[in-house]
Amino acid sequence: MSTEAFQQCINPDCRSTYAVDEVLFACSGCGSLLDVGYDWDKVPVPDSLSFFAKRWASSGRSLESRADYSGVWRFRELLPFARLSDLATIGEGRTTLQQVDAIARRLGMKSGSLFFQYEGFNPSGSFKDNGMAAAFTVARMLNRKRVACASTGNTSASMAMFASVLSESSDKAVQAIVFVGSGKIAYGKLSQALDYGATTLQIAGDFDACMRNVADVAEKLKIYLMNSVNPFRLEGQKTIMYRVLEGLSWEVPDWIIVPGGNLGNSSAFGKAFAELHQLGLIDRIPRIAIINAAGANTLCTLVNEYQLEWQEGRIESAVIDEHYSRHKESGWRAQTIASAIEIGRPVNLTKALRTLHCTNGLVRQIDDETILEHKALIGRHGYGCEPASAASLAGLRLLRDEGVIGTDERVVCILTGHSLKDPDATVGYHTGIDTKAVQWPKPSTPAGSLANQPISVGDDLDEICRVIESTRSDPRN
Ligand SMILES: *Cc1c(COP(=O)(O)O)cnc(C)c1O
Ligand SMILES: [Zn+2]
Repeated sequence: MSTEAFQQCINPDCRSTYAVDEVLFACSGCGSLLDVGYDWDKVPVPDSLSFFAKRWASSGRSLESRADYSGVWRFRELLPFARLSDLATIGEGRTTLQQVDAIARRLGMKSGSLFFQYEGFNPSGSFKDNGMAAAFTVARMLNRKRVACASTGNTSASMAMFASVLSESSDKAVQAIVFVGSGKIAYGKLSQALDYGATTLQIAGDFDACMRNVADVAEKLKIYLMNSVNPFRLEGQKTIMYRVLEGLSWEVPDWIIVPGGNLGNSSAFGKAFAELHQLGLIDRIPRIAIINAAGANTLCTLVNEYQLEWQEGRIESAVIDEHYSRHKESGWRAQTIASAIEIGRPVNLTKALRTLHCTNGLVRQIDDETILEHKALIGRHGYGCEPASAASLAGLRLLRDEGVIGTDERVVCILTGHSLKDPDATVGYHTGIDTKAVQWPKPSTPAGSLANQPISVGDDLDEICRVIESTRSDPRN
């Protein structure tokens, strides 16, 4: 364990610190969230970010080579809380930045101004693997044999994958216990948890109910909690931003657009940029736009309607409490086709407010139909993603329409999860067919504007040829 690292309460009036090996998910003094902090003077940080790029091509079985191969641990000097021998990796984070000029043009933007950071290309198919590598490292350091999470699907898929891959021998076996809301998870994700052997509890309730229960169970049964209240998760997710910078040859973009659910990613991104700036490795900080689904818009409402702000950490918690009691009274529940962000009480709310403050960020919300249209647009251009991820591009469109983002500003949208995570949503969009696994929001048209209906043809060569000749590829741009 490193001595330069510690856990620290984010409340400026408290600032209690704890050792890395203390198992806490909130400050025991004041109840605020914890950060992982570093004594940077004692950490040998390279003086240029380009230092990390040469590790990209690493291969081999040594500890060091395997850490270099990881898109998380390649940057280990910037999250120095563990020794090399503790690092958990399954090859996560080898994702790259894609320049998407054709989509940029559709949004009236210049070539070279729009990029996708495609995190669906992680081993379990979502960005969650970045954070899981870090949290599993701590679980190992603490010698924990049981880990648990509440999940809308991707956290559980990632945790289950890490647990089974890392259980190489019986003395290293880790049991993964996942809490999912009954009927609230896309089948692609549920299938992963089952396939990797996780103990899967379908709780009669939504994500917020799962979160409440898993936190209590973890405490009661001494199971290590892997949700993003675990501050080490966010350390791993910082590296998504390091890779974005790497993809831009260390030039800072103007905007990062990210879907917001539990707000772990947005919190991690803000921390990543604040630290790089503090270390003198970047000279300015990009603006971060966090995009909620309209049916799960807690952050958007609190920030834009109730003017909730970070206020140097002195957040008006009464505003949050009142909002949640309104939810309770009206029976409001988060509901959106973008199941990965279907969260009513985001656990990292306060940290996300800090991100908005230090990045001059903003929050918007997008309805389900618009999310699906943008998901189809991303799919049409060959990437594809699950519904939640498309909130980023839909958010960009909105900010373009509002005139907030200009034609030649440099924008990076985070595509958080792979399109095969939720095939029901995709098939539902293209065919209008209601599938069982998801609640398809009844579209105003039979199918979306980019719908690509399958064509039924008889078992007849002439008919098949005739049908093919009558179709033609429609120009995308
Ligand atoms: C978890 C997840 C999100 C939400 O991220 P937060 O860090 O919880 O805000 C968005 N998209 C996908 C695909 C996810 O798995
Ligand atoms: Zn505190």
